[in-house]
Amino acid sequence: MSEKVNCLIIGSGPAGYTAAIYAARANMNPVLYQGIQPGGQLTTTTDVENFPGYPDGVSGPEMMVELQKQAERFGTDIRNGWVTKVDFTEKLKLWINDEHELECNSVIISTGASAKYLGLDSEKKYLESGGGVSACAVCDGFFYKNQEVVIVGGGDSACEEAHYLSKLCSKVTMLVRRDEFRASKIMQERVMKTENIEILFNTSTLEVKGDGQLVSSILTKNNITGEIKDIPAAGFFVAIGHKPNTDIFKPYIDMDSTGYIINKPGSTKTNIEGVFVSGDAADHTYRQAITAAGTGCMAALDAERYLASK
Ligand code: NDP
Repeated sequence: MSEKVNCLIIGSGPAGYTAAIYAARANMNPVLYQGIQPGGQLTTTTDVENFPGYPDGVSGPEMMVELQKQAERFGTDIRNGWVTKVDFTEKLKLWINDEHELECNSVIISTGASAKYLGLDSEKKYLESGGGVSACAVCDGFFYKNQEVVIVGGGDSACEEAHYLSKLCSKVTMLVRRDEFRASKIMQERVMKTENIEILFNTSTLEVKGDGQLVSSILTKNNITGEIKDIPAAGFFVAIGHKPNTDIFKPYIDMDSTGYIINKPGSTKTNIEGVFVSGDAADHTYRQAITAAGTGCMAALDAERYLASK
């Protein structure tokens, strides 16, 4: 027997929780599944300084706890669980952890995005063994206290994480593949002004080296001069962007070649009636907590109108 759900929200980042707050206040009886990383990407960030309403900033995890509480206050049914299967052929059917079947009147996809890796065998090896490769400085930086680390990437995430690491580690080397950052000016300045951060432009990673257990150095190549450098490092941090968590919806939901869900312009509607999308799962441009929250609100309003029209 499948459980009937009026409004299913998948994901627990700012998009999912905001959708839940609006849906619960509109008496839509939302059920929210938190997914593998409750709280989403913001639980792996330090200070959020650009979310309106927090003049002194707020830590990412703290903000997510507050959002969860706000969604619960209005009666959202928040559950642990992971959507493992989807069938949108006739009805909106989904399975949680392969066993619990749901039949939904409306679905809001807020599954966000996950960290990308370079794809080197050596990177994979030390990532899987927990020997020194990480995509989250806030989670793992502490393990490299007073040691040297390398971080790859030139966006806001890389700058933010390099700055965070510089407070813990003796030296941080940033590898930027082009001759300029992608990051905003303020973030660039922050890393450039930090004494123990060295920035290597035009530099690629060739190999993560170690003794088979722990990382000991990073082999790099200058893309202009061809110079090869072996940089001592106990940790290797990857901050090169994210991939949307949308694979499971691929057979049914229209998406672009990189997996971002395509919504109908000016709304959160997808190509399937009753299925809406919010947050980073559909946004490769802005990817901010505030824009995710905004589209979460839109998705709940769109779902409410859809349910009312039925
Ligand atoms: P971005 O896509 O903005 O940047 C990715 C960076 O990684 C770029 O410098 C890119 O290089 C580099 N890169 C990508 N692939 C590779 C590769 N294979 N090898 C080496 N380098 C690679 O991702 P971010 O995660 O930094 O940011 C995502 C969004 O989140 C942005 O909109 C950002 O502004 C926002 N953000 C905001 C923060 C804040 O305001 N506090 C904090 C963190 C993120 P290239 O430029 O050559 O493509």
